[in-house]
Amino acid sequence: MSDRGPHLVLLGKQGAGKGTQASRLAEHYGVIHLATGDVFRAAINEGTELGFEVQRYMDRGELVPDEIVIGVVREVLTNSDAVKRGFVLDGFPRTVPQAKELERVLADFPLDVVIDLDVPTEIALHRIAGRRVCVQCQTTYHVDNPPKEDWICDVCGSDVVQRDDDTEEAVMRRLELWEIQTLPLIHFYRRRGLLAHVDGIGDSEDVFESLVATVEVRMTEDA
Ligand code: ADP
Ligand code: AMP
Repeated sequence: MSDRGPHLVLLGKQGAGKGTQASRLAEHYGVIHLATGDVFRAAINEGTELGFEVQRYMDRGELVPDEIVIGVVREVLTNSDAVKRGFVLDGFPRTVPQAKELERVLADFPLDVVIDLDVPTEIALHRIAGRRVCVQCQTTYHVDNPPKEDWICDVCGSDVVQRDDDTEEAVMRRLELWEIQTLPLIHFYRRRGLLAHVDGIGDSEDVFESLVATVEVRMTEDA
């Protein structure tokens, strides 16, 4: 087994549970959780220039242009100990150019495994319709699994709300873009021998255990 945490990418359509599971995996392995969507939502909340730039794409369910996303990821991976400690990427890469750039940035410290977290679209739609997130720390809840106190975040005490881009129109556009832009990554990573599949249906705890088992197998093979 390697002496660092995994270099892991979670692929999966919107609502597959990537954010939910990536947070848990990052905590479990003591690695960095980098979710590009969370970075952009935080920037919008803080009113930064980046937030101003990305909001118009996000609200419509469009992808943020590759050069902006790549800039954010490159900065985190090169200016933190993410590569040394390990990381879980959630929502990145989402296009083939992003995947190629990630390979360049990681260079001699490549990915260990890319997991396709798979759920049927009907389940993803149900999950997205009920999704609620903390405006501050972005902890994710669901109307079927709310915070303890009336939509106040259990973790940081801020408001828990519906995402601006979880409208029916934006969700349909995001799912469409996922098929066109992100699905080709399944083939891209299969060709590189990095792809694994985990069934995202079912209890969050069971999905987490399957993910850990998959990572362990891959890290043991690599060691
Ligand atoms: P993604 O990051 O892939 O878009 P999220 O992690 O935000 O997905 O999950 C979408 C919604 O589904 C959230 O409301 C989350 O609480 C809920 N959810 C995540 N995993 C499960 C699961 N295994 N079973 C039921 N609901 C889930
Ligand atoms: P997410 O939180 O992953 O659902 O992402 C929310 C939104 O942020 C997406 O619909 C895009 O507008 C934008 N976004 C997040 N990650 C990326 C990415 N890797 N490439 C392009 N746009 C992204």
